[in-house]
Order: sequence, then structure tokens, then C-alpha cells
Amino acid sequence: STPVAAFCALSNAAKSGLLVKGAEHLETLAKVKIMAFDKTGTITTGEFVVADFRPLVQDDHMTLHKLLYWVASIESKSSHPMAEALVKYAKSYTVEPKPDDVEEFYNFPGEGICGKIDGKDIYVGNKKIAVRAGCATLPIIEDDEMEGKSIGYIFSGSVPAGIFSLSDVCRTGVKEAIQELKSMGIKTAMLTGDHQAAAKHAQNQIGGALELVHAELLPEDKARIIKDFQRESATAMIGDGLNDAAALATADIGISMGISGSALAMETGNIILMSNDIRKIPQAVRLARKTKQKIL
Ligand code: ADP
Ligand code: MG
Repeated sequence: STPVAAFCALSNAAKSGLLVKGAEHLETLAKVKIMAFDKTGTITTGEFVVADFRPLVQDDHMTLHKLLYWVASIESKSSHPMAEALVKYAKSYTVEPKPDDVEEFYNFPGEGICGKIDGKDIYVGNKKIAVRAGCATLPIIEDDEMEGKSIGYIFSGSVPAGIFSLSDVCRTGVKEAIQELKSMGIKTAMLTGDHQAAAKHAQNQIGGALELVHAELLPEDKARIIKDFQRESATAMIGDGLNDAAALATADIGISMGISGSALAMETGNIILMSNDIRKIPQAVRLARKTKQKIL
């Protein structure tokens, strides 16, 4: 009856929108005492709206249209949630992105992107991308001046060329899901590549439900924090991005977002949340715990 119970559990999970890549993962999930959530695209929808976008120096060489053309063309080669919003924003100014004009595209997970266009190396990303661009004097924007929005910087070579901000909202049911996990004896954390104030803003939106918040993390930082958690107990990681892949692989259980997740995250995860509905996670833990009782 053991394989039958396991099979039933997998098929029940599938019916509720959870693709579990093997019965052993349910067994591990039953033991998990810590769950770490990525922010952008996992706790939040990742459906960004551009709030502000401006060149830092406005002259004949740097117009808003030129900056939009650079950013939208390069971002149209990225699968990051922010990319879609920036492309849409450019189109609202009748600027058509031209991905074919971009040479030497690079993606730096957790930082941003870079591409050659109009003979210039253009960098788009967070504070960390300034180092890639070779810029020592970043035009510092006070994070808390931005009301928790995500902030983007644009460099032409090593010269700061523009700045933008965008925001998204938390998914429905995240607060309830986190509270339910807590009532089940599971500690929850946020691990994000975004800046502190944006992380705090998301945490406030869900009524401070998460126990721990870690911001400004690189992919390897996320994996290192998972390893720290594992010293305490079995740990699950939930994420959607390229920058979550290492943490998803390190965790005892990796859960990846289905609809909007990056291909790499979905490949790495042991469980795929087909509906993107975080409320399925406490449900899955209950199912896993019940199945374990039946098997033992
Ligand atoms: P999270 O870890 O919360 O999911 P992200 O996956 O959004 O965070 O990555 C962290 C940060 O890296 C973002 O907040 C953003 O500043 C920057 N970033 C990554 N990719 C891009 C991109 N294509 N364009 C602009 N910024 C990017
Ligand atoms: Mg993400």
C-alpha cells in the first residue's frame, strides 16, 4: 500500500495545481521547518508598472527617446519581470524596441543586464550594475525616498545616463499563506535581490507576516543563507528567477513558480506551483504530512 499512497498523493497534488517531480519530495516536504521565499515574482506579482523614468543629463546627446530606445531594446532580450514593463513603457512613448540592434547581450542575475547598442555599452540594473559598468560615483538615490519602489540605473559605458523606478504588488493570499505556515510550525523568510526599502515595503504589505527579511542578495548569497538555515532544519526555497536557481538547488526542496517562472527555475525546482498561488504551499505541506503518516 505504500506506493499506492504515494501515487495517490502525487495525483492529488497535481489536481490542486502542484507538479511534484517524485514521491520522495513529498516526504522531504513533510520535514521542512523553514521556508524561504524570493520576493519579486514570488511574493509579488512581478507585474511592474514604471513610476518614473528620466535621463540624468538632458542635452542633444541624451534625449528621453534615445534612452528609452536603448533600454527597451536591451530589455527585450531579458526575461526579467521588469523587462516587460520597461518595453511597454517605451512603446507608450511610441519608441519601438529593436532587439536586433543589440550586440553582446549579457545577463547578470540579481544585478541587471548589458548590451552594445549605437556603439555603446549600455548597462541597466540595480546599484550593483554600477560596478560592472565601472562607475565609481553612482548618483545615489536614497532608497527610502522611493516609497519602497524598485530602482533602476542606466549607464552608458561608465557614465550614469538615466534612472527609473517601478513597482508591483504582493500576490493575493500571501499573508494568509505565511500565517498558515507559521501556525504549522514553519519559520518563513524573504530572500531578495532588491534593495532593503523595497523588501520592507513588501513585508509591510503583508502585515509583517514573515519572520526574516534579507535584501540585496546575489544568487550565491541566497544559496549561502539556505545553507545556514539547513543547519537548523530541513529548508524549502520558493522562487521564480534566474537568480533563485542556486538556492532552489541547495534547498532540501525547491518550489518554483509555474506560469511566470524562468525556465531554469522550473527545471531546478522539485515542485512546480502551476497556478502561481502561494496558498497551495501550506496545502502541500498538509498533504505531505498526511501522506507520511499513511506510509509509515
Ligand atoms: P528578487 O530576488 O526579489 O526576485 P530580482 O529577481 O528582481 O529580485 O533581481 C534582483 C534585482 O536585480 C532587481 O531588483 C533589479 O534591480 C535587478 N535586475 C535583474 N535583472 C534586471 C533587468 N533585466 N533589468 C533591470 N534590473 C534587473
Ligand atoms: Mg524573483
